[in-house]
Amino acid sequence: MMTIRSRRYLRRSFAGALFVAAGLLNAEPVKAGTVALTFDDLPIFGRYATTAEGTAITDALLGGFRRHHWAVTGFVNESQLEGRDKPARIAWLKHWLDAGMDLGNHSYSHFSLNTTPVDAYIADVARGQVATSALLAARGRRERWYRYPFLETGLTIATRHRFEGWLHDHGYRVAPVTMENSDWEFAEPYDDAIAHGETVEAARIRAAYLDFTAKIVAWYQQAGQQLLGREPAFVFLLHASRLNAISIDELAAILDKAHLRVVPLDRAMRDPAYAIADTYVGPDGDEWLTRWSLTLHRDLPYGAIPEVPADIAAADEKLEAAPAPPPSPPPAASATPR
Ligand SMILES: [Zn+2]
Repeated sequence: MMTIRSRRYLRRSFAGALFVAAGLLNAEPVKAGTVALTFDDLPIFGRYATTAEGTAITDALLGGFRRHHWAVTGFVNESQLEGRDKPARIAWLKHWLDAGMDLGNHSYSHFSLNTTPVDAYIADVARGQVATSALLAARGRRERWYRYPFLETGLTIATRHRFEGWLHDHGYRVAPVTMENSDWEFAEPYDDAIAHGETVEAARIRAAYLDFTAKIVAWYQQAGQQLLGREPAFVFLLHASRLNAISIDELAAILDKAHLRVVPLDRAMRDPAYAIADTYVGPDGDEWLTRWSLTLHRDLPYGAIPEVPADIAAADEKLEAAPAPPPSPPPAASATPR
């Protein structure tokens, strides 16, 4: 199955082929930009042992969002609500809404449209809206956003049209991604270090994560400049992980330093950049700057893209290959694919 990892490799090889001299040392004064923050694989991405731990991760995420006055959109995989502590997991989603956040659909099972027949995929997305849309409806709201798992949008134009026609008919809009920091690759090695009481290793992973995030945010800003002559209102893909839950203040500092102000998703989506056609059809789960670069026949500065440290990528790969170790109670959510 195509994973986000293989898409990463695909992108890397594409990057190698398209080595472009790092462009545009911009001498203009820095203007404040905006970014919408989206967190995928709710209620929780990664490994945790007990319901109490899951509650703590959720509370830490939401506490951080509120501390920084962020209106964030979370994307739910309702398959993650199943299990003996289902009421607690639904309560976590309620906490998201009570904290002023929005929730969208990320399908029930986190299938890829590239590998799932379109009718089965649609049925899975419909199944993925049951609990979340009920929570929203109880607050007089409705589910409006869909995020493609793996950012994989189908292998044929017919598939994509059929699915996006269904989305449209059911009141959904696709939530694109124009910034991401491979947080999922750091998250599980971090969880694993915490689970084994390896605090020094956990701190090392977290420091590497924040260092990488600062670099990749700058790269996306440069890529936006090179592609559009300006920074778009970014849509940042993150995951609802323990690593992010304890890193909100540092992430906020990185965004501040990059002159990026956090705005809600619908606000960012008003940027006319999001009207640029995305005509890509094929196996790569790319973010939308790459998709627009294909439409506009303009390169991105792939030659200068920062890389996730090799030891962390390898650690994540190893964890993904191994089944989640069963800690004392049965693992609640383990290794949900992105
Ligand atoms: Zn995902």
